[in-house]
Amino acid sequence: MSKRSKEKDLKGVIPGITKILRKFSPYIRKERLLIVASFFALLLETGLRLLEPWPLKFVFDYILIPAHNNTANTANHFGLSPIALLTLSAISIVVITGVGSMAAYLSTYGMSLAVIRVLSEVRGNVFNHLQSLSLSFHQKSKSGDLITRVTSDIEKMRTVTVKTALPLITNVLSLVGMLVIMFFLNWELALVAMTIFPILTLLTKNMISRIRKFAKQHRDSEGVLAATTGETIGAIKVVQVLSLQKMLHGIFSQQNQKSLDEAIESLRLSAALERIVQILMAIIIAIVLWRGSHVVLHKELSPGELLVFMTYLRNAFEPMRKLSNQVGQIAKATASGERVVELLDYEPNVRDNPSAKKAHPFFGTVRFENVSFGYDTGTEILQDVSFVVQPGQQVAVVGPSGSGKSTLLSLILRLYDPLSGRILIDGQDIREYTIDSLRQQISVVLQDSVLFAASVKENIAHGRLGATDKEVEKAARLANAHEFIMKLPQGYDTILSERGGTLSGGQRQRIAIARAAIRQAPIIILDEPTTGLDNASERTVNAALAKLTEGRTTFVISHDLRAVENADIILYVEGGRILEQGTHRELMRLGSRYSTLYRMQTIITKGDTYALEA
Ligand code: ADP
Repeated sequence: MSKRSKEKDLKGVIPGITKILRKFSPYIRKERLLIVASFFALLLETGLRLLEPWPLKFVFDYILIPAHNNTANTANHFGLSPIALLTLSAISIVVITGVGSMAAYLSTYGMSLAVIRVLSEVRGNVFNHLQSLSLSFHQKSKSGDLITRVTSDIEKMRTVTVKTALPLITNVLSLVGMLVIMFFLNWELALVAMTIFPILTLLTKNMISRIRKFAKQHRDSEGVLAATTGETIGAIKVVQVLSLQKMLHGIFSQQNQKSLDEAIESLRLSAALERIVQILMAIIIAIVLWRGSHVVLHKELSPGELLVFMTYLRNAFEPMRKLSNQVGQIAKATASGERVVELLDYEPNVRDNPSAKKAHPFFGTVRFENVSFGYDTGTEILQDVSFVVQPGQQVAVVGPSGSGKSTLLSLILRLYDPLSGRILIDGQDIREYTIDSLRQQISVVLQDSVLFAASVKENIAHGRLGATDKEVEKAARLANAHEFIMKLPQGYDTILSERGGTLSGGQRQRIAIARAAIRQAPIIILDEPTTGLDNASERTVNAALAKLTEGRTTFVISHDLRAVENADIILYVEGGRILEQGTHRELMRLGSRYSTLYRMQTIITKGDTYALEA
């Protein structure tokens, strides 16, 4: 099982990486100079790492051993005196390490810089892309999952590229370099040394997969523990009321013990593995030393070269050991990368037509022509909706809950596209306008307006890019919000908490109205903006709305029919169809659904009034 998943890891990594590199190539290309320079630094670092044991070889072969054998003289084949050669070797140790470290520093720094630049640009684009994806996409996706892609998936790629992939490249390069030199020095000995790799893999494979198994079980158990804790705390009232503490503590203790056992087992196996590997290493080193000494005695290798050989063997081991872990890490980061690419590849289904043009300033004629729409193919939420609204007219959309009123208005914003039929503004299909230029000319106030965790000023200015302080204040005055804003601790600079928690519902709505007003949009959509407000707030908000909508084409969804009886057009929607349309008087005269609903509402309210009076 673990074998198969590991193979899948290894196989999966390459195509995954290729896909990611291809997708990110425009960003990578911008940093190519930095990347190439860093790669050269990396090559230099690797080369110097290979050189590290060589000064020792020279000292051994040309100074110490000849001196020991009393054959030392000035005539080594470099033409240098032993002392000069010794000094040179000593200095070169420092130079090799010094320059090597410098190169390592430059390559790490350069690559990190390139990676960070590339990924932060990618992240910006992912964020942008996410915002451009249609509502239906967002409604289908889990927001937690999307957030992970923008934050931790990209972060994972960054850390793994810098901390794992780069060292891996250096390691692989130096491993290859060492092997080449080892073969070059003595191929037979190199072959002996190389047997360590398959032996090591064979012997440790079983153990590694057991460690993985326990580590995974441990992680899962930790997840279960977290879930139990979360559930218990989330339902603490029920737990206490039903006296479930003992029972839950029992469950928790069991899970805790299980997690502990798995952690201990995985630690024990890891410790055992390390020791086994150490012993294996010692055996191989002993064999190479034994065999190597014979080779030296047969004068096929110098003692210094054997030293280099042994050093390489020891040095090769560490990168080898890390290899499988690094590949695992890279596989994980590749999966993260693929998730990001997948998100970037997701085409928004509401997007600009190739022929779309920037919209001119709208007059505000809105026409629905036989529009049908459904969120999922199969169920039609709107059927054959047609109506015309002239510039500046007030349109009330009324009808029972779930009849499709909000859906109808969301189509004007192109949050979704109709399945059939078309929507025209000023005689032009809205799909022929760019989405941005269309939405910029429509202001929206919803029932529960979302404010951002930013200052009041910024929240209002969100309505239009580049709005000045003066315009913000003007909009706030229009929305009857200026006075209460001035009473906030820092006035317009007061930072609102998320969803505007510190403000009352009416105040929040008035800020939302100011945000809508600053756009000076010719078309306004109000989706039950006063629902849930008390009478006094409703009055101020309504007064603000009256100013906001004056002379502009306005669509308002309302449950309270008396609030919209003065509308120029009333659309009565039921079951996704417009069953009645006209003015209040016309619909009352028709004496059908609208008039029934209207009478019911007025009677109920009157009934309430009577009850209060009584
Ligand atoms: P209203 O505004 O009249 O209360 P809506 O337009 O909100 O009605 O909803 C009309 C119908 O569409 C309802 O049956 C509702 O369940 C469904 N609906 C609304 N939004 C979605 C959505 N995002 N995905 C699927 N169905 C939806």
